[in-house]
Amino acid sequence: MLSAENIVVSYDASTNDKQLDCVSVTIVPGTITAIVGPNGSGKSTLLRTLSRVLRPKHGVVLMDGRDLYQAVSAPESARAISVVPQDTHVAFDFSARDVVGMGRMPLHTGWARFALETADDRSAVDAALATAEIPEELAERPVMSLSGGERQRVLIARALVQESNVILLDEPTSCLDLLHQAHLFYHLRHLASSENKSVVVVLHDLGHAASIANRLIVLSRGKVAADGPVADVLTRELVRDVYQCDVILSREPISGSITVIVNPEPRFRSDRSVYVIGGGGGSVDVFRILAEVGCHVAAGYLNSGDLDQVSAKACGFPWRELPPFAVTPELSDDDVKKISDDFDIVVFAPAAVSEMNIASLSAGLKLARSGMPIFCLKSSAGVATSRDPGVSAKIQRLWQDLMSRLSAPPLADAKDLIKLFSEDDYAGTA
Ligand code: ADP
Ligand code: MG
Repeated sequence: MLSAENIVVSYDASTNDKQLDCVSVTIVPGTITAIVGPNGSGKSTLLRTLSRVLRPKHGVVLMDGRDLYQAVSAPESARAISVVPQDTHVAFDFSARDVVGMGRMPLHTGWARFALETADDRSAVDAALATAEIPEELAERPVMSLSGGERQRVLIARALVQESNVILLDEPTSCLDLLHQAHLFYHLRHLASSENKSVVVVLHDLGHAASIANRLIVLSRGKVAADGPVADVLTRELVRDVYQCDVILSREPISGSITVIVNPEPRFRSDRSVYVIGGGGGSVDVFRILAEVGCHVAAGYLNSGDLDQVSAKACGFPWRELPPFAVTPELSDDDVKKISDDFDIVVFAPAAVSEMNIASLSAGLKLARSGMPIFCLKSSAGVATSRDPGVSAKIQRLWQDLMSRLSAPPLADAKDLIKLFSEDDYAGTA
């Protein structure tokens, strides 16, 4: 286990500048920790400090409970921790194979370090070259004659060949093509989950970080802005605060991975406030579009873990929380009044209506009866069912009532909400 406790790091002892200011992190075996943050936030500095290269001014770095800078020798730390640096420049023009072979040096002690490589070394180098997909022909070439991505793979191989328990990688995919990125991520997952290694990786792509990491550490101006499981940490507000950049986070339904899209200049900035009645993933696109437009949005009752709940959270919209699989409660008269005071429009877009969320349907009706313009998507129309014929009939009745009160025919696409908002009198489009 590797940890930093309240470390303060400064490159220049004569000034008061702190590149890391009271940072604490714990790196756990068997997990992948991604470190993200804007340029200059201290990511590389943190990796240097964790790898016994840059001694902190205050605080302590511990490896298995021992002070990395006081109680652990340089060779021991080199055996335990391998590093893929951000800068792939190599000072001497060795062959790629020789550079990878250097990763074995910490494993030999005393004079053996200067001896010829052993059979074990050779097979480890061959295996690492194969993992990093460096063919024989490239391996024999002077490393500085390789392309940036090829050189990056050589340095990845050099770190792998070391067989250390901790592997720190600083933007290891910055020069890699799509396939090599995917292979590296696959291999890092394998190292963490099958070989119980501690993997720490600095990444710029938040989507990559979300898809690969168990844990996300967000640095901002030398401090930890957030640290925890990806789903808890990665929110629209956090990205806005740390990067001064508006993004839309959505969950890709097939793989479940989070995608991060930088919000384009809103095509139409609406000052309308929208209340969304969702559930079951029917409102994912609605939330995304409204986030793009920049509307003020809140959602009604959503079950925790429901796709719409995850989506609302990712967009930074509040919702009324329900436990998983709980039946949706009715809106009280006070709720109806408050919603119609606070919001201009209702969008009704649950994936389906059943006995579980029949109250969503009555909520839509109550809000429509209170005079609020209400819209729905074609995808949420015509999906009202229950196995109980009594309930089914009730759903049908409420459904027909709601359909008759829509302010416009059901929309084919969530994008149509934008067109609708740009019309002056959206209530008169029915
Ligand atoms: P990141 O990796 O997050 O982009 P760094 O850790 O490289 O950021 O840098 C953090 C801060 O420390 C930046 O302000 C950078 O200019 C400064 N810095 C980085 N390396 C050095 C160095 N060798 N000497 C002086 N300042 C440095
Ligand atoms: Mg860096």
